[in-house]
Amino acid sequence: MPAEETSPAVVLRARDYAESDRIVTLLTRDYGKLGGIAKGAKASRHRFERKLEPFSHVMVHFRRRPHGQLVFITRAEAADLLQFRIEDELGRIALGTYMLELTDTLTVESGDATDAYQTLVSALGVLSEHSAQTAIRQAFELRALRWAGFGLEFAQCRVCANQADTEAVYFVVGRGGVVCARCRSGVPEAAIRLRMESAAALARLGAMALEEVSGATSAGADGALAIARFLNSIVDRKLRTADFLDSILSGGT
Ligand SMILES: [Zn+2]
Repeated sequence: MPAEETSPAVVLRARDYAESDRIVTLLTRDYGKLGGIAKGAKASRHRFERKLEPFSHVMVHFRRRPHGQLVFITRAEAADLLQFRIEDELGRIALGTYMLELTDTLTVESGDATDAYQTLVSALGVLSEHSAQTAIRQAFELRALRWAGFGLEFAQCRVCANQADTEAVYFVVGRGGVVCARCRSGVPEAAIRLRMESAAALARLGAMALEEVSGATSAGADGALAIARFLNSIVDRKLRTADFLDSILSGGT
């Protein structure tokens, strides 16, 4: 029998299977994203002290199967892991489920995901302490894109590297960043005009620790559009949770 492996993990997705099993998608700290089956999860309080639900933060014990795609989850416990408080408020649920979906979308099974795990844990921890805010969303999106390999540039022009001093810059999806007004005419691609305040807000949010983001100035609709267009360019489907989150946050945070 393969040896038992252990890692902290956040449950990204979960569903019932057969009479008493759960099938879950886990983002583990040490082994990347894993699909697993927890036999008897609904009946065994002993082995599954923590329910395996989205947002559960657990120490998961599992064995790999030689030919199966799903690992066998043998136990899941809270240990001393930070527990998230998401599900008592609609805005938190909307932003939290969006974070889970975006993380799931940008990670591949078996790839290294330590950065993704740390970012998700920090972001859900911040969300547990604050109401949902556009600043938290945007800071998380920029970080998620960064660990996925797409560090977006908002502070300086992608062409001439000068810090823009005009009233607007232009976000070009294919360049993953902004160009300044002077360089814009030499760049053939379509671009989204960003007010300097929005570009500066995104540059700041991208550089701040997540723990300090609550209450920070967020980018306006132009900045949100730039991020959304970039996400659309690398994800081949619209995120299920994005519209709901947009409708919640448009209430004016
Ligand atoms: Zn330039």
